Amino acid sequence: MRIQISIIVVLLIWPVGPMTAQTDYPTKFSPQLAQLPAVRDALSYVEANFEQQVSEWIRITEIPAPSRQEDERGEYVRGQMDELGLEVTVDSMGNVIGRRPGTGGGPTIVFAAHMDTVHPRGTDLTVSRESGRLHAPGVFDNSASVANMLAAARAIQAAGLMLKGDVLFIGTVQEEIGIDGMSYWLDQNEGAVDMLVALDGGLGSVQYGALGIYWSSMQFSGQGSHTLSSRGRPHPAKAAARCILDIYQIPLPSGDAPASAVYNVGILRGGYVVNAIPQEVSFTVDLRTVDPILIEELDSLIVAACEAAARDEGVYFQREWLSRTEAGGTAEQLADRRAHPLVQTAVDVLRYLGYDFGSRPPAVATGSTDANAGVVRGIPAISVGRSGGGDQHTLSEWADIESARIGTKQIILLTAALAEVAGGI
Ligand SMILES: [Zn+2]
Repeated sequence: MRIQISIIVVLLIWPVGPMTAQTDYPTKFSPQLAQLPAVRDALSYVEANFEQQVSEWIRITEIPAPSRQEDERGEYVRGQMDELGLEVTVDSMGNVIGRRPGTGGGPTIVFAAHMDTVHPRGTDLTVSRESGRLHAPGVFDNSASVANMLAAARAIQAAGLMLKGDVLFIGTVQEEIGIDGMSYWLDQNEGAVDMLVALDGGLGSVQYGALGIYWSSMQFSGQGSHTLSSRGRPHPAKAAARCILDIYQIPLPSGDAPASAVYNVGILRGGYVVNAIPQEVSFTVDLRTVDPILIEELDSLIVAACEAAARDEGVYFQREWLSRTEAGGTAEQLADRRAHPLVQTAVDVLRYLGYDFGSRPPAVATGSTDANAGVVRGIPAISVGRSGGGDQHTLSEWADIESARIGTKQIILLTAALAEVAGGI
């Protein structure tokens, strides 16, 4: 019923409606595309097999996959892709790639779902199911996307959907520790991808930017000294304390993050004994903004504040990079990327499936997913969500089961629209 209503609305707006911000952008989706027999078959397949999909989702969630230890989950994904008849390879980092060759003449589309989780080995991953929800660490981020991706690929194969372009379904590794798996694969396959769709985040998100994230450890060191002889001696703790106060005085542009910027001092460490000046004191900085110029400016100011504090206290300072994800640009800087059909296609697909964006903009110029690796390399790239859910990266993580239907159908419609159905509409 919801689908029928949205078809009517779309048809009314599309050909005759006034040009609004939403209809200004080019799209590769049309309701007619969704009505093609093979596309309908693929969508029906999802409905008919949804309980199996949920079982697989649970199974995937219960396979431990901390970043850098994704092998077991990767082996499961590899096996399933193999059974599906995809051309499967596993690269040296552990990314699992299932290629579905097209009939020719179409673009190459990559769907990427990261397999790794933030939960260390030994975490209880047992999934419980109650009131339409699944509960377990990692069930939402990002096991839901891995399950959706496999289910969508299975549906497309079962329906025999003929596509011009190649479609690559990739289970990626090490997303949570700096988008390393996707970055590596893109570097190894330069020029091979026309569009990249990361599967991550809550259902309904369409992101075409890249949030810059700089993680640093600011380290202050000195000779140390017994308390009795400490008066007037260089003090790493005083330098660190002064620096922390100083960096929180750095003015930030008005507006909310991520268009503006945020940063946080998260971990403080130093000293071993009560009765001495510590030889080393450190703190971490997590700096985030989508603006590549602003992030560099702020990073320089933070480092300069540390250097000044170290100088004043007579101690040494060094910054150690913990992780660095490049920023993709503000909404203004990315205006041309918003105009790429990839973005509006994703928005139109969600609307067609009955998703209501409410009053918020349907697509935003941020993101901290595998799509970032595409954005900063100039590849048209977005991320789209998986299901409803919340509390990701905590032990009380949960996901809404029903919404994964839309999350999965969205992948099928994106595949049909972006890789282009052979023979056309
Ligand atoms: Zn994620």
